[in-house]
Amino acid sequence: MSSSRRGLLAGSAAMATGAIAGCALPAGAARTSPSTPFDVAASTIPIVGSEQVYPVRRIYCIGRNYAAHAREMGSDPTREPPFFFQKPADAIQVVTPGVVADHPYPSLTKNYHYEVELVVALAKGGRDIATADALDHVYGYSLGLDMTRRDLQREMGDQKKPWEIGKSFDHAAPVGPIHPVAKVGHFTDGAIWLKVNGQTKQSATLKYMIWSVAEQISRLSQAFELMPGDIIYSGTPENVGPVVRGDLIEIHIDGLPELSVRIV
Ligand code: MN
Repeated sequence: MSSSRRGLLAGSAAMATGAIAGCALPAGAARTSPSTPFDVAASTIPIVGSEQVYPVRRIYCIGRNYAAHAREMGSDPTREPPFFFQKPADAIQVVTPGVVADHPYPSLTKNYHYEVELVVALAKGGRDIATADALDHVYGYSLGLDMTRRDLQREMGDQKKPWEIGKSFDHAAPVGPIHPVAKVGHFTDGAIWLKVNGQTKQSATLKYMIWSVAEQISRLSQAFELMPGDIIYSGTPENVGPVVRGDLIEIHIDGLPELSVRIV
């Protein structure tokens, strides 16, 4: 083989390797993805002040995490270990501040509930993360709705069956753009409220959380290896309730732009 022929082959091999390994792909793109017979949309959330989007890996949610009345009376005697569940990553419905998002009333339910929550987006993962280090793993924050088919959740619970069908369904996780920690800091206090058709339904402050964001991350990391792209719905205050088609939900957390959702 002539040296020029070898050079040509080496060049071809390099080009082929480049094509497969994705040397020319932008940072963050898949480098060794095998080919697939069809495309599956990535689940992403806009990042405020950035052209990049936040890639959602998993959605964790914490169960009942506010005890406003007990807190006002002093220490909370009912502090039990937090419990968690998940929604599928593609349950995300991005809601843009200043735009009323149409949110479809889901199938099968006759008792569809709102739950306003602080949403935590992780930049780093790990196992057995210490509470003192937990907030170093946060990329940013947003606010969102843990929408719930309450009748199905309760029916399944009563039957001691998994209540996933009540929590994990299409569009079950409306959320706003993510605000990087560098710009908004961490959220340990501040008002959180929800209105339906202009009437306040939920109203509390974040300091009434039984388990802080740092404690939630630490506890979650004992059960699961957390990863970048994991987000956490940090629980809802008291007074959840139903909506029907036509209702307008507005949600607020101090320091974040409000979001509006119309049930259609
Ligand atoms: Mn919830």
